[in-house]
Amino acid sequence: MKLEEAKRIGKEFLKKNNIDEREARLLLAFVLNVSSDELIRTSEITEDKFEEYQNVLNRRVQGTPFSYITGEKEFMKLKFKVNENVLIPRPETEILVEEALKYKPENVLDVCTGSGCIAISIAYYSKQTNVSALDISKAALEIANENAKLNGVDVEFICSDLFENVNRKYDIIVSNPPYIETSVIDKLEKDVKSEPHIALDGGVDGLEFYRRIAKEARKYLKEKGTLLFEIGYNQGENVSKLLMDNDYKNVRIIKDLSENDRVCVGNI
Ligand code: GLN
Repeated sequence: MKLEEAKRIGKEFLKKNNIDEREARLLLAFVLNVSSDELIRTSEITEDKFEEYQNVLNRRVQGTPFSYITGEKEFMKLKFKVNENVLIPRPETEILVEEALKYKPENVLDVCTGSGCIAISIAYYSKQTNVSALDISKAALEIANENAKLNGVDVEFICSDLFENVNRKYDIIVSNPPYIETSVIDKLEKDVKSEPHIALDGGVDGLEFYRRIAKEARKYLKEKGTLLFEIGYNQGENVSKLLMDNDYKNVRIIKDLSENDRVCVGNI
């Protein structure tokens, strides 16, 4: 079959199902295992590959996120492997990484690391920082480990329910914990709902992890240490209050590029 024909079928199918039709070309390149440039120079697709393409399009339409199909996602200009055991890194989270890098810390702990995107980016862009990262999920840590290797950095990964297995102090603790209210999860887009619930569910009010981390992190921060959280667009006030209630100083909020509250910072 002509490649143009396959692409047209893909585009129409995605559009009919309210998915960005531009993904058709990207998924075609993925199935054929070629870059976008090489795709331009391809004119035919075999029957087998077309069938594979249709399977991929069906999975996409049934709600599998694009990145779970291709198995990767770019974050901070680095490539990360992803699968159903980890949250797909979001562009907003880059704000948290950029903020943490400004401190030029000697050592950093990333709590709830998932794919490892935060910890690995910090290690990559600040060569002199020692980075540790924890997660309760062994399956997530396997991916995080692979991602550290893929990006050529050393990160110490710890399997731990928050600080349970942490036994030292850090200049900076960062976290993008699960922060969606339990009752809201069912109402999310199909794509998001197929990400691990354990990575999304922030308890009844969405603040459960902020509460636990804000309270416990003090013991694992060095003198004048800093806690940085990613937060939901509507959580600025609540999370700031939580930090102040736990005696953090200089509590402040940083907005993302869409002018939403995105990061909350406090010092001990
Ligand atoms: N820290 C990871 C990220 O930002 C995972 C976050 C999570 O699972 N809630 O992508």
